[in-house]
Amino acid sequence: MAKFLEKGSKSYSILNYKCPRCHEGDLFKTPMLSFKKPFEMYEKCPVCEQKYVLEPGFYWGSMYVAYALSGGWMLSTFGICFFVLGIHPLVSVGIAAVGVFALYVWIFRTSRSIWINLFVSFKAFVTKKA
Ligand SMILES: [Zn+2]
Repeated sequence: MAKFLEKGSKSYSILNYKCPRCHEGDLFKTPMLSFKKPFEMYEKCPVCEQKYVLEPGFYWGSMYVAYALSGGWMLSTFGICFFVLGIHPLVSVGIAAVGVFALYVWIFRTSRSIWINLFVSFKAFVTKKA
């Protein structure tokens, strides 16, 4: 496996939706494609007890990440549809917009995962909070 995808790297925690501190506990209560309570997070890590809400309203900031992710998706999808495939610009925008709605849960979870990883670092061999 590539080094940046291994346990101990931020991308491992972000892409696997794991606790940023121990990389063991899950951030979310249900799997991504369960469609049951897709937005419910644990309050703290089930393994190392790292708090997931560092302060009240902590995840407001993750909206900036979600904005960047959905903006990137919109631009790249529109670019591929319009410039590469030659699809009418309005249809290209429509395809990109439908994609954003389809990816909503992914964007929501990934932006929160990125956000908490900006503030909490990996600590190897931590099992309980000291
Ligand atoms: Zn943890």
